[in-house]
Amino acid sequence: MSHFKAPPKKNLGQHFLTDRQYIDMIVLAVDPQPGDRLVEIGPGQGAITFPLLRRHGELTVIEFDRDLITPLMEASEGVGRLTVIHKDVLQVDFGKLAADDGHASGQIRLVGNLPYNISSPILFHALEHAGAVRDMHFMLQKEVVDRMACGPGSKVYGRLGVMLQAYCKVESLFDVPPGAFRPPPKVDSAVVRLVPLPAGEVGISDHALYARVVRDAFGQRRKTLRNALQQVCSSADIEAAGLRPDARAEQIAVVEFKQLANYLSALPP
Ligand code: SAM
Repeated sequence: MSHFKAPPKKNLGQHFLTDRQYIDMIVLAVDPQPGDRLVEIGPGQGAITFPLLRRHGELTVIEFDRDLITPLMEASEGVGRLTVIHKDVLQVDFGKLAADDGHASGQIRLVGNLPYNISSPILFHALEHAGAVRDMHFMLQKEVVDRMACGPGSKVYGRLGVMLQAYCKVESLFDVPPGAFRPPPKVDSAVVRLVPLPAGEVGISDHALYARVVRDAFGQRRKTLRNALQQVCSSADIEAAGLRPDARAEQIAVVEFKQLANYLSALPP
């Protein structure tokens, strides 16, 4: 008899994965190794949770829906050691979670079929704790994964991709159709792997300035850098940083955005 009786809640983005093939593909992509500290965001009715728990023996999950907490704990009996954190994931300090634990690496591995309505805030929340996170495997809207993973020249290259790729290696793994979920979402989905770069490899001297340059550059995509960045720097600065003032943001690689932001941060105030 199923432990889970409450119907799916739309406001919590509940689309439960039911297709075994995709569940297996996610577990295979995560490929948990002995000693790994796995943390799942939004376990729901446990579609990914229990296969991971069976394979790995222990798992921490963060779930906001109170109706799922007891059923998750009951269903884990005899399967493995499941720690359930009943909280909004945006209020969870991943740094503390990783440090609290006796595991050797001091880092957690995040997994989740994310609630699509808050997927971007969750991504940026995880990035704020990038030092505590070894990698992330997330199911998201395919359209969002495409924006995260593409490079300059692509129609969907923009602020999200340039922000994420500055801090992570981003790899789109596979697509998942609506029919793999209950209830089916209106959009296609995809699984993405994000691996935060070691702090020494990020190469950004002023993070707020980098974010500002990227935001303004893509604020008006049709504009040249010279016009879009008027509030931040001059045409001469853009040129001195090695970029063309008449280029548009969608033509600029992540490394060039870093170059420009670092040049500006080194200018005297
Ligand atoms: N992992 C399950 C699966 O694949 O079938 C459920 C995925 S469902 C798309 C998203 C899950 O995230 C739901 O269980 C929902 O209750 C949970 N959730 C929504 N908002 C949340 C939040 N702010 N913090 C933690 N969990 C949340």
